[in-house]
Amino acid sequence: MNYKQIRPGRNVGANERKTMATLSDRLPQNLPGPFYVDSTCIDCDQCRAAAPDFFQRDAEIGMSVVFRQPVTPEEVSEAQAALEGCPTDSIGNNGTL
Ligand code: SF4
Repeated sequence: MNYKQIRPGRNVGANERKTMATLSDRLPQNLPGPFYVDSTCIDCDQCRAAAPDFFQRDAEIGMSVVFRQPVTPEEVSEAQAALEGCPTDSIGNNGTL
């Protein structure tokens, strides 16, 4: 069993898994912009280790949030890699600024 198989709070069937964050669950602590963390973050630290220029821990809520939005293509790639590495698919990119 891993986090992608068991996803508490996700409205999916037993054999389905959600593959992206939910905009309606977007944490308000995220900086406005395309990348965000939703409320299913399990505070595993993976995104902060992979892309520390964009993700940080919010101590009050015990979850990661986006504190700076990527701008350059290289930065977007770094943030996108963190998104893809999130074990709970808690990072979203809605593509708008
Ligand atoms: S990788 Fe995902 S679950 Fe882990 S801290 Fe970042 S947003 Fe949260």
